[in-house]
Amino acid sequence: MNEQEHRRLRTAFLPTRDPATYEPDPPPDVPFTLPELRRVYSQSHSSTAEKWVAYTDGSVVHQDGLAMGSFAGMFTQGPDTRMEFRGRVVEQPMSSTRMEIMAILVVIAITPSATPLEVHTDSQAAAHMMLRVAAPTIPRELANSPDAFLWLHLRGWLQSRQAPVSAMWIRGHSGVAGNVRADELARSAHSDSSVTRWTTRTPPPPDTPFWPKYDDRAIPRRLRRLFREQDEAITSSQLIKQVNAVPHRPRQSPKEVEHILHILRWTVLPNGQTAKKKCWNITNIRDSNIRAFGLKQLMGFLPTLARQEAWYPNVYDRPELIRCAKCSQPGETQEHLYECADHLAVKESFQARFCTIESSRDKTCRQADMRMLRPWNSMGWLQGRIHPRWALMIPSLQHDRLMTVGTPTAIQRLLRSSLETWYHTIWLPRCQRTISQEKSQGLHQGAKLRRMRVTQHRRPDAPASPAPNLPLFFLESSKERMDEYHRLMLRLMHGAL
Ligand SMILES: [Zn+2]
Repeated sequence: MNEQEHRRLRTAFLPTRDPATYEPDPPPDVPFTLPELRRVYSQSHSSTAEKWVAYTDGSVVHQDGLAMGSFAGMFTQGPDTRMEFRGRVVEQPMSSTRMEIMAILVVIAITPSATPLEVHTDSQAAAHMMLRVAAPTIPRELANSPDAFLWLHLRGWLQSRQAPVSAMWIRGHSGVAGNVRADELARSAHSDSSVTRWTTRTPPPPDTPFWPKYDDRAIPRRLRRLFREQDEAITSSQLIKQVNAVPHRPRQSPKEVEHILHILRWTVLPNGQTAKKKCWNITNIRDSNIRAFGLKQLMGFLPTLARQEAWYPNVYDRPELIRCAKCSQPGETQEHLYECADHLAVKESFQARFCTIESSRDKTCRQADMRMLRPWNSMGWLQGRIHPRWALMIPSLQHDRLMTVGTPTAIQRLLRSSLETWYHTIWLPRCQRTISQEKSQGLHQGAKLRRMRVTQHRRPDAPASPAPNLPLFFLESSKERMDEYHRLMLRLMHGAL
């Protein structure tokens, strides 16, 4: 680990509790640990059975937009007196698999160490992982699981037992008495305030030197993934600032900028199709080109000749160099680029791209006439917003297809095809024409770059470039990073992610 990574780690995990913005409720919940489980659930059962058999179940319900979990189980063989248990969890994030694991953990905790245990669960995910959890080395599948924290505890408990534990999957709701009862118990626990509430405010699993925590709770994320999400959040909050710093433009809400970022994240496949990606990794040169282009266009920073003249007066010092290479009109702006384009080719390109993005399965993509809407034209000034006229068009785009899509998806597809049309059909041909115009005027690439540099050296007092430079705090971890980390964690741990 080098110095930079060290600093990054340190600052990413600085204490983030800020009493002014976030006051956690006093934690009434019981830490989900072996001693506490035994204290709550096992009241010294006498047993003569050679093997204990248990049925477990987990349940998740949604209330006021938040997921609430409960788990339960019962022993059909083992304790001499009938033994059932229930538990609740109100922490986010929540999943039914997590509830299932917790139920299995309870069963393991209260079964005597020297007695073999057989657990029946109707969760395939949990049963599957139970087969792997005892492997001599920790399987990747387990380490990558969102419930790794619990699985590693479970693994430790299994290793400290004398007798084995086996898990079996049974089909849910198939009438097996133990399963039916466990299901009833779990569902009844949600609304029963006498049922113990558990929390993952617990120590890290055994043989784990540390575990990322927030507010004393285990963060259910892999470190690398957490870093990636944090970096994305910081990038997008910086982008919101930069987009809104452009003068004479409508302000963009974080949600709107998120839509823009989403369409930029899509990738162009070698066969020309556009596919959605899950992450920001740049996988090919087309990705980085279209992203750079998209951002410049959305923010109005395309290096048009009008801009080049303003920024590099030393280079573009003759009227022959700053006129549109196609129609010779002086002062080539972003708006002029569209006006000057070959409209028929633009329209055809847009429709073809829209149909390609629409769906690879949909062979009947009708050539909707989008000339009136001209989305490729308004991409820049809309900054990723939807034009009122586009909005009218969207229902017909949704219903014309075999597959119906949501409005945000339809908008994103329109924006994406518009972006690609701008790039391929308007911008690239323009670049070629401009380069040959410059060459014919004796301005070659090498000479151009030299003169651009000279300009910068000789004019230290030149007005600041209108392009916002990346702020220092973006490169150096600081308060912004901490704030973003705090926000990310709040969303993650309180159910919004
Ligand atoms: Zn022109």
